[in-house]
Amino acid sequence: MAVNSALLDTIIAQLSASRGVLLVGHVSADGDSLGSCLGLGHLLRGQGVNAHVVSVEKVPARYGFLPGVGAVITETKDFPTHWDVVVVMDCTDVRRTGFNESFLRREDHEEARGGVVLINIDHHQSNQGTLGTAWVDPRFAAVGQQVLTLAERAGWVVMPEAATCLYTALATDSGFFRHGNTSPTVLRDAAKLLDAGADLRLIVEYCLERKTLSELCLLREALSTLTQECDGRVTVMEIPFAVFSRCGVDDTEMEGMIDYARAVPGTQIAVLLRAVQAGITKVSLRSRGNCDVSVVAVSFGGGGHPNAAGCTLHLPISDVRAAVLAAVKQVLSCG
Ligand code: 5GP
Ligand code: MN
Repeated sequence: MAVNSALLDTIIAQLSASRGVLLVGHVSADGDSLGSCLGLGHLLRGQGVNAHVVSVEKVPARYGFLPGVGAVITETKDFPTHWDVVVVMDCTDVRRTGFNESFLRREDHEEARGGVVLINIDHHQSNQGTLGTAWVDPRFAAVGQQVLTLAERAGWVVMPEAATCLYTALATDSGFFRHGNTSPTVLRDAAKLLDAGADLRLIVEYCLERKTLSELCLLREALSTLTQECDGRVTVMEIPFAVFSRCGVDDTEMEGMIDYARAVPGTQIAVLLRAVQAGITKVSLRSRGNCDVSVVAVSFGGGGHPNAAGCTLHLPISDVRAAVLAAVKQVLSCG
């Protein structure tokens, strides 16, 4: 796939010249966001660049196997004293990181003088491409795949730790090579990462196979709410706030849950509504075929891809359900 080599060279030069890089993904971290940050972190440190992965939230337990995850900085007091480059990954804007933009740009630091370079590496269609040195390309299945492309362009060694992180990114964002974004190039890139030493056994065990009792409890509760709308073309799942404490889980253990709603034959759009706090509802949307759910998510201030998108509304589940279903029905034209 043809990429803008001059842009990649600019990013490589900015990273290589840096005295301190912060790598940041999105809130509700997923395999692509974390794997890309950690993977690029390994690659940069391999080049002698001082790089730190930062996050506003603790890392979901399921990603505890990723090499380097123990060094992720989740408290601002633990931030390094200096950084001059921030790489915002898998995010359409800085708000998605959960951090304040002026904080990341160090605008209150005399020494930095607002001179922090922002680099945005992302593959969301809805990204306007205006954030710093922006490399936005929706043809990539995952940001982890963009990072591999960057490493190849730069001639960086992809060590096994980086390969495990980047493979996790690519595998999770392609639904383990099942979604429509799974191209021959994706499979070739996955093969390159296996060649580079990605620990497939570990990735499969943690990302696909392991289910804690708490997660299974959550799944049971969620399945009990399955309902269908629009003559079975829309399948909805709900997770009320009380369920999290009842099952002893937090909302970082939700990944993959919506796939059960999408699995029901006839479903064109799957909707998962979960109360992340009382009165705050996170919406996940998935679709089959050419039904674009990112339009729905964007209309509520969120974003995503045509077949996988999301948003968060400051309303209780029942209100969000009504509003989102109305928008979804418009997309499907089923009143
Ligand atoms: P999920 O439903 O798994 O949280 O997210 C599916 C896709 O939509 C991911 O690509 C994710 O980054 C994106 N997404 C989910 N929620 C939001 C949101 O609130 N804002 C934006 N911009 N994207 C979101
Ligand atoms: Mn992604």
